[in-house]
Amino acid sequence: MDKKLFVISGSSGVGKGTVIKKFLERNSHFMLSVSCTTRAPRDGEVNGVNYFFLSKEEFQNCIDNDKFLEWAEFAGNRYGTKKKYIKQCLDEGKDIILEIDTKGALQVKKQMPESVLIFIAPPSFEVLENRLRGRHTEDEATIQKRLMEVKEELARAEHFDYKIINDDLDRAVLEIEKIINGENDA
Ligand code: 5GP
Repeated sequence: MDKKLFVISGSSGVGKGTVIKKFLERNSHFMLSVSCTTRAPRDGEVNGVNYFFLSKEEFQNCIDNDKFLEWAEFAGNRYGTKKKYIKQCLDEGKDIILEIDTKGALQVKKQMPESVLIFIAPPSFEVLENRLRGRHTEDEATIQKRLMEVKEELARAEHFDYKIINDDLDRAVLEIEKIINGENDA
């Protein structure tokens, strides 16, 4: 059976957003799942497009009512993927990409062993730190919190199906295409 659900994780600032955007431009039949989060929107982010921005109470309500396929806390905020959304896409025969953190990715794998986990790794820790600071979207305390998460994420990435290094955008995109096509040819 064709693989339908691909989970892509990577440390903050690793450039996974850019890699995924480029992949989607070239593979337009893939849907990118829209997650829920309790974090505040960044400049330019739109509710329902980048995320569904929920209050802490709304998010808790979804947890209590078992609405999430997976959810995780990341750098002080909560993020989650709605079961209903994924089920609907799969029922419609769509291929889906989830861009979620490594804790969430391992939960998805447990519940849906047919999912394929791909980790995008930075060329080095220093490169990652520079990229994170360079985007000027977070304050210093937030950056510190995110860097601490990086080490734990690298450890969890050992359980992923694939690891790719994002030292070159085009090459990283080609590698993802190769993995996805390879899985579907298998
Ligand atoms: P950001 O705040 O930079 O948009 O996202 C922070 C982290 O949360 C990223 O690693 C991103 O992949 C992750 N994330 C986004 N949506 C979800 C989700 O639905 N579930 C989980 N577990 N992580 C998510």
